[in-house]
Formats: sequence, structure tokens, C-alpha cells
Amino acid sequence: MKRRELFLLPGLLLAASPSKVLRGKLLAGKKLEVGGRIYALDSDKPVGLVLDDERLIDSELEVQGEPAGDGKFKIDEIHTSPLYVYVKGERLGVSYWCDICYIRTYTPGKCVCCQEYTRLDPKDPNTPDRKP
Ligand SMILES: [Zn+2]
Repeated sequence: MKRRELFLLPGLLLAASPSKVLRGKLLAGKKLEVGGRIYALDSDKPVGLVLDDERLIDSELEVQGEPAGDGKFKIDEIHTSPLYVYVKGERLGVSYWCDICYIRTYTPGKCVCCQEYTRLDPKDPNTPDRKP
């Protein structure tokens, strides 16, 4: 499915994706503060690693998923790119970059190639990676 094109057609967006969006400030302990209300975030393990990334704590984050009742929100799986961070007003996908190997990953940690700790590198999903 060409997801990109669907986003350009708001009328089709709801039909194509039932996911809801929550936007607020990421707090330590996998919580999101939205307009004074605190949501407990549930997710798969890779998304959880991002939520625990101290470099993102206090950032303005947008998460996609489903309300799970009682102030809980279940974030979609990592392969659907459910995490965005606002940097100076710009909505960027949360991702990580190894400056040595030019490898992009979507969870924090060591580069699979050189074992260096990857750099947090929020990125517009439409911008291609630079080539080595
Ligand atoms: Zn590397």
C-alpha cells in the first residue's frame, strides 16, 4: 500500500488507518502528558526502548496507536513508524544513525555493524539518507 499518498488525501486517511494520534510531552516511565492529562503508554519492545531514551524525555512527541481505556494508550508496532518528535516545530520521524556505517535504525542502542552507540537523528521520512 502506498501509505504516503493516502496521507495526502484526508478523506481516505480514516478508512486506510484506524490509528489515533496522541501528541504531548514525553515523561520518564513511558508516559505522555497531553494538555495536563497523563497517559500511560503501552507498546511492543522496540517502541518501548525509544520511549525510555533519555534524549527524548521532555520532548514533544506524537504517537500513533489506539486508546486502551483508563488513561492508557497502546502504540502501534515499530514497523508502522508510530513515533514522531517535534524539533523546532517540524514533525520528524524518530530514528537513529551511525555516522561510521551510515546505517539508520529505529531503536536506540549499538550499531549492528560497528557496535558504536547510535546517535539520535530525527528525520523527515521523505528525505533520503545521505550516501557514504
Ligand atoms: Zn556502525
